[in-house]
Amino acid sequence: MAMIVVGRSAGVSDTGRKRRQNEDAYVCEPPLFAIADGMGGAQAGEVASGLAAAAFEEGAAAIHGEDGVATLVRAANARIFERAVHDPTVAGMGTTATVAVVDESAGTVTLAHVGDSRAYRYRGRALEQLTTDHSLVGELVRSGRLTEDEAAVHPHRSVITRALGTDADVEVDTLTVEVVPGDLVLLCSDGLSAMVRDEEIARVLEATGAAPREAGEALIAAANAAGGEDNVTVVLFELLSEALPEPESTEVLDAASQAEPDDVTVEDVRKHGAGKGSRWPALLLLLVILAVAAFVLWWSLVR
Ligand code: MN
Repeated sequence: MAMIVVGRSAGVSDTGRKRRQNEDAYVCEPPLFAIADGMGGAQAGEVASGLAAAAFEEGAAAIHGEDGVATLVRAANARIFERAVHDPTVAGMGTTATVAVVDESAGTVTLAHVGDSRAYRYRGRALEQLTTDHSLVGELVRSGRLTEDEAAVHPHRSVITRALGTDADVEVDTLTVEVVPGDLVLLCSDGLSAMVRDEEIARVLEATGAAPREAGEALIAAANAAGGEDNVTVVLFELLSEALPEPESTEVLDAASQAEPDDVTVEDVRKHGAGKGSRWPALLLLLVILAVAAFVLWWSLVR
């Protein structure tokens, strides 16, 4: 019997206000959730994060424990590195990766991560960062040579010290945390965490009742209001008690296939594999309407 179940979940991604392309990618396929923040010239960052997301989606079914998640992340690394070695147009590309897998029967979330995309647990009104940034400023803060405030404005704050795809092998950090009904887990790219402080993230979560989609859209808006200097991506999922009623199925579908916020381009939506469910029926309906209109016109002419 499951101790907890995944309730509503949502992934939201936005290009931000300064970048021309969105090189972030995400996976929101319960029980697996992931964020990848790509880097590299031209389209390379987008290729790297897209390869990582695809690898996570494909491997999601057979994941068990920290070793399983770490193996999945290393497999994604190998796939990106292989591509970078053989394709000069994407040489040197890389991506962060933060993966969360829920074990409902154990009541735990297992995390694996590389780079500075974060995972947080929101419980009560407290927001706790679960991951440690593999970034230059992150290491300087941990060694006491930089304060959090100095790190927030450091010119090299976006330099990461580990990435997927840049080497044949990669060191993956893993951890497993307990979750209880009512918890919310937030994964985000640095486009959120570099623009919006933890206290403000917690305030937004509280103001939106920690409803995954509403909170996700509000967090994107907060990052853009703060300058939107980078692509910003969030994935949120709530944990419920099995005794509680199941979330409405529309909400769950919503999270998986929901259209992105208005200012997200169609390209972003396609990249993230969202919107498939809502776009095609509308197109089909349009074709049917056009066919009926053509028939009526033809009928009125031949009579
Ligand atoms: Mn970023």
